[in-house]
Amino acid sequence: MTDATDWGAIARQLAPVEVIDEAVLVKKRSRDFFWYSPILNAQLKRSFGDLVAVPKTREELAHCLAVAHAADIPVVLRGGGTGNYGQAVPLRGGLIVETTGMNRILEIGEGFVRVEAGALMADINRALIAEGWEMAMFPSTQDIATIGGFVAGGSAGIGSLSNGALREPGNLIALKALSVEAEPKEHLFEGEEALQIHHAWGLNGAITEVTLKTVPTRDWIGCMATFDTYRDCYAAGYALASRAGIGCKLVSAVEARIVGYFPRLKDHIRADRHLLVALVPAEGLEAFRGLIAAQGGEIDLAMTDPERVAAGLPHVFEFAYNHTTLQVLKADRSATYQQIGVPDASDAEAVARVEAALGEDVWQHHEFARLDGKVVAFNLPIIWFSTEERLREIDDIYRAHGHSVWDAHTFHVEGGGLKGNYRHLAWKKRMDPKGLLNPGKSRVWEDVRHLDADEIEALDRD
Ligand SMILES: Cc1cc2nc3c(=O)[nH]c(=O)nc-3n(C[C@H](O)[C@H](O)[C@H](O)COP(=O)(O)OP(=O)(O)OC[C@H]3O[C@@H](n4cnc5c(N)ncnc54)[C@H](O)[C@@H]3O)c2cc1C
Repeated sequence: MTDATDWGAIARQLAPVEVIDEAVLVKKRSRDFFWYSPILNAQLKRSFGDLVAVPKTREELAHCLAVAHAADIPVVLRGGGTGNYGQAVPLRGGLIVETTGMNRILEIGEGFVRVEAGALMADINRALIAEGWEMAMFPSTQDIATIGGFVAGGSAGIGSLSNGALREPGNLIALKALSVEAEPKEHLFEGEEALQIHHAWGLNGAITEVTLKTVPTRDWIGCMATFDTYRDCYAAGYALASRAGIGCKLVSAVEARIVGYFPRLKDHIRADRHLLVALVPAEGLEAFRGLIAAQGGEIDLAMTDPERVAAGLPHVFEFAYNHTTLQVLKADRSATYQQIGVPDASDAEAVARVEAALGEDVWQHHEFARLDGKVVAFNLPIIWFSTEERLREIDDIYRAHGHSVWDAHTFHVEGGGLKGNYRHLAWKKRMDPKGLLNPGKSRVWEDVRHLDADEIEALDRD
């Protein structure tokens, strides 16, 4: 691509694929939720694509990739644009390919669903529930986020307490992705191989189709319990998450100061108390009540889905995961967050110790999940941003207390901790030899792009 690229001519070559060339709409589709981070906001807010293509079929998507290949144009795949790290922001301009037109649910079978990459997760869940199934996990953005975007950009979500992270064996059964060549080819990645495309931010293939594990659906009760101290709330969260017999698919602990930013809950939960959010199966409700009482909490809300709708309330998961952060950001854009791994989820005292060391500008929020069969906790604190130096000091305090930091303030795929090896870049070389997909998002790619794919893969063994 050069400054003189004739985008009118590119748009004509893309026909019959629908294109969007109105500048204001192209700019809108060049953004995601990177503004959660003031650091990314400063770095990315002026990065825009040049043209948007909206293919409706994999043949149309292949045509978009062939046109881009012929003209050496950068390509950024885009689903719902709900990623948090500027994953879908074009750093070097070029063509944005929005997949939401490729949204067919292809097959629902015993324990799996096969869908096109642009299907919205809420639509997939609706279709599954009608057949007695549900997604093993999904993010709280399910109404606008696509399954392709979740597989390419996400990691875990509601359901991960029962079924682990997306990358755990059996969750991502297979995917198909197109290469960026003169004649794009569709490759099938199964099981462990699919993990090389998972969370690679669309830089090593354009996903066309995904096959995912599903689980039998249950009657979920949205529950909220409140506690006098955050320590008790966290400890109850861990106890609840650990009671596999109750079978919760979501358990989140949110400290009272954050809950003050949830106006929609005002008449439904006690004020100024620390909040435990849970999705409890109907058959586990009695045990849930017993556990909350034993942990010193009180249940303020327990609603079936029809009751929740009648009460005019959002899903309880809209107060969990990164929606917790969003509720605060809606009121005050000086908030941000970080992604922290707790070393020993069972140790509520250690969580209280790091909280005390952090200071008034860090407010606590934890999510519980099950990884490799073990209950773990992720800390997604609200941080009142002052300077990058202070943010990095907070990271260091966490590290000094044995926590891991998966930085949410970087637009490099290697930065968040999930892509620490070279295998995804070997696949990039195979699938995108010219390096046109999402350029600028891999720190390591420029160092290895001159090697052939097997040489890149061998770097892992060195
Ligand atoms: C309020 C909020 C809550 C969230 N909660 C969670 C959560 O619980 N768990 C979680 O994991 N994430 C979460 N996220 C992040 C994000 O919403 C999810 O990862 C979501 O699934 C992304 O889907 P999307 O369609 O919006 O993807 P996009 O943002 O459009 O894209 C994400 C990445 O995938 C690439 N991509 C998209 N489609 C394709 C394709 N067909 N082929 C190849 N690459 C592709 C893009 O280039 C980009 O790099 C949250 C974000 C917000 C704002």
